Amino acid sequence: MKVTEHFEKADGKTLISFEVLPPLKGGSMSGIFKTLDPLMEFKPPFVDVTYHREEYIYQQHASGYYEKTAIRKRPGTVGICAALMHKYGVDAVPHLICGGFKVAETENALIDLNFLNINNVLALRGDAMEFEKHFSPTEGGHKYAVDLVTQIKKMNEGIYLDTNIENGSKTEFCVGVAGYPEKHFESPNLETDLKYLKDKVDAGADYIVTQMFFDNSKFFAFVDACRKIGINVPIVPGLKPLTKGYQLKSIPRMFYINMPDDLVSEVQKASDPKMIKEIGIEWCTAQSKELKEYGVPCLHYYTMGDAKSFQRIAKAVF
Ligand code: FAD
Repeated sequence: MKVTEHFEKADGKTLISFEVLPPLKGGSMSGIFKTLDPLMEFKPPFVDVTYHREEYIYQQHASGYYEKTAIRKRPGTVGICAALMHKYGVDAVPHLICGGFKVAETENALIDLNFLNINNVLALRGDAMEFEKHFSPTEGGHKYAVDLVTQIKKMNEGIYLDTNIENGSKTEFCVGVAGYPEKHFESPNLETDLKYLKDKVDAGADYIVTQMFFDNSKFFAFVDACRKIGINVPIVPGLKPLTKGYQLKSIPRMFYINMPDDLVSEVQKASDPKMIKEIGIEWCTAQSKELKEYGVPCLHYYTMGDAKSFQRIAKAVF
């Protein structure tokens, strides 16, 4: 079932969904099952699986010289999606990114997903590679997420890259895209970022999932601003609790978001790691309750392998 059909079926009730990362290459599915098994009691209708592009490493040869090699550290997104659908009977939402893919490879990936009966995707641009200052599109690949949305929506009309294909079978992908309540870091201001978000929706995106945030007022203002410019699709807040003191610095650095003053001072006053975790879980629980009260279609949790914190939050909220 499509994500948007789940929202319609819920008829105003707030749903819950989780996001997992593929294990590092060489790892097994057991870590994902360990995270999701205890969370299944909350009946998420869908689970997202992130996608990780290749990274370059330098491998030393016996002769001493170094060779630059591309490796994908967390492969397996599509296989994990199929496994989750099979094991839990949930829908799976693979993330698809532009970086690292030529458009023809993206088309083939979409054909695989369609044959596996996976008809939801979150369409993203992806970030720059570690050694790059800015994201640069792969040769023959898309530059922005909007181009990926357009490609997927064309396949939904039976239009493939090969123009010789007549009466191509129509896929039925429901497409989610990313939104940033505190703006995307490359954008000069929120207004510009929202304009490009609207382009994604106008290209056919069916719903939006947001970057994490710790201040609900930012989310409420973002939704208002979206509605004002005619973005009318469901907007799903993405959440994660702060669980460690160092995250006061690492989360803003990695995700380009601000921490609210009250949360910062509470964490700074805490005397031990257990207290910090408690503060973070309570904060996320309060955020979730308020967002549910506000009527969001779904609360989307970035699990990062931490089943216990989310179990506590979900128990308190649902
Ligand atoms: P876009 O929508 O393409 O926007 C990128 C930037 O370009 C923005 O600043 C935007 O304002 C600007 N822009 C857009 N269109 C234009 C245009 N036509 N002209 C000029 N500027 C334009 N990354 C991964 O690698 N794997 C994942 O699984 C993953 N999952 C994510 C899930 C969520 C919910 C979120 C919020 C992010 C996720 N990301 C993931 C990170 C994401 O790939 C990065 O934030 C990336 O930098 C931007 O992706 P986007 O899809 O928002 O890009």
